[in-house]
Amino acid sequence: MTVADVLIVGGGPAGHATARAYRDAGGEGEVVLLCAEPHPPYRRPPLTKHYLREPFAVEELYLRPPSWYEDHGVRLCIGRRAVRLDPVERVVTTDDGTAVAYRNCVLATGAEPAELPVPGGDDPTLRVMRRIEHADALRDAAASSAVVVGSGFIGCEAAASLALRGVEVSLATMEELPQAARLGPDAGRIIASWLEDLGVRLHLGSEVRGLAARSVELAGGAELGADAVLVAAGIRPNSGLAGAAGVVLDEGRVKVDQTMRSEAPGVWAVGDVALARNATAGRHLVVEHWGEALNHGEVAGRNLAGVEAVWDGVPGFWSTIGRRTLKYRAWGDGFDRAHLEGDDDAFTVRYGLRGRLVGVLTHNRDDDYEEAPERIAAGEPL
Ligand SMILES: Cc1cc2nc3c(=O)[nH]c(=O)nc-3n(C[C@H](O)[C@H](O)[C@H](O)COP(=O)(O)OP(=O)(O)OC[C@H]3O[C@@H](n4cnc5c(N)ncnc54)[C@H](O)[C@@H]3O)c2cc1C
Repeated sequence: MTVADVLIVGGGPAGHATARAYRDAGGEGEVVLLCAEPHPPYRRPPLTKHYLREPFAVEELYLRPPSWYEDHGVRLCIGRRAVRLDPVERVVTTDDGTAVAYRNCVLATGAEPAELPVPGGDDPTLRVMRRIEHADALRDAAASSAVVVGSGFIGCEAAASLALRGVEVSLATMEELPQAARLGPDAGRIIASWLEDLGVRLHLGSEVRGLAARSVELAGGAELGADAVLVAAGIRPNSGLAGAAGVVLDEGRVKVDQTMRSEAPGVWAVGDVALARNATAGRHLVVEHWGEALNHGEVAGRNLAGVEAVWDGVPGFWSTIGRRTLKYRAWGDGFDRAHLEGDDDAFTVRYGLRGRLVGVLTHNRDDDYEEAPERIAAGEPL
């Protein structure tokens, strides 16, 4: 049986960064990277942005060309899914029945789009957005009209990109304003105006009662019909493998410390599937951001190579809605005050909790964005 020094399950940014950081930090052991998708690790953020607007060669999305893995001694197993984890024997079984023994197993399995628990919510012809194939399918299906369900960053970005393609777009959301739960009402009002300027018809505060491939039923009986329906209702972490193996989960994610080690010896977790402790925040944080997937992988890879590292940065993400880019840094687990400064074309929102700065959102105010991590980490008064 093969014995991998580092077996990475999941070829997203977190898995890729783990392998890269391990090698960069001098790790010389055997590395195996299992990728369930038919691609090497690639960038997801463009899927709702320019790739949805205008397709280009998928190779341009790849984080590294396939030759990089060979050059760095990383055995890349494309189209190979782990189906069982035995943390006692330290063996992972793949979907072709191969058993891979490991010294350390890094779970980097990411997440899948969540279904809406309404009649028709499990219809396989509904569109979702996580993979290259999802973006291609949505672009093809939404010939002239689309309904987007959900006003998180995936829903807002996809609605804007489809509108820029000339597609007639309606967006239905329970929220009174887009992204209000995460970013507050002031930012929500501005995002709503950006979407409306692009021609997106907003159905705010609208509960979805039923879904089908080409229609959405709202509470009160209204029905929105379109060529395609995109459900962007959040994500569900792929923690089933860990859960079935008895690895401790919290909030549906693998609970890890600030070095990315779980409580099961030799099992680590990184990226969207992990609930990691942030050393500066002093608590575990849910993050579903590209940059944090890379940071988690960096921390795990270095520790695996014997170089101490902890996850201690203030998490953040960028989101591009049409031609507008938002930049955000925050602990992300709540605020009781949001203060807007500026106007629709350039603004900063500062978020406070119990009188301390816990987050900053900017649009065209890069100085505020650059200063944000230090100020948030220091817990400046607000
Ligand atoms: C369309 C889109 C746009 C986004 N835009 C932004 C953005 O602008 N800014 C931002 O900060 N974040 C953005 N995100 C979020 C960001 O992409 C994620 O936070 C990030 O991809 C998480 O990385 P990950 O490696 O943890 O998981 P993933 O990227 O989900 O990768 C996990 C991989 O593991 C594979 N896998 C799962 N189970 C198994 C198994 N059992 N065996 C083998 N492989 C397995 C999956 O198929 C997948 O390929 C976006 C996400 C999407 C979907």
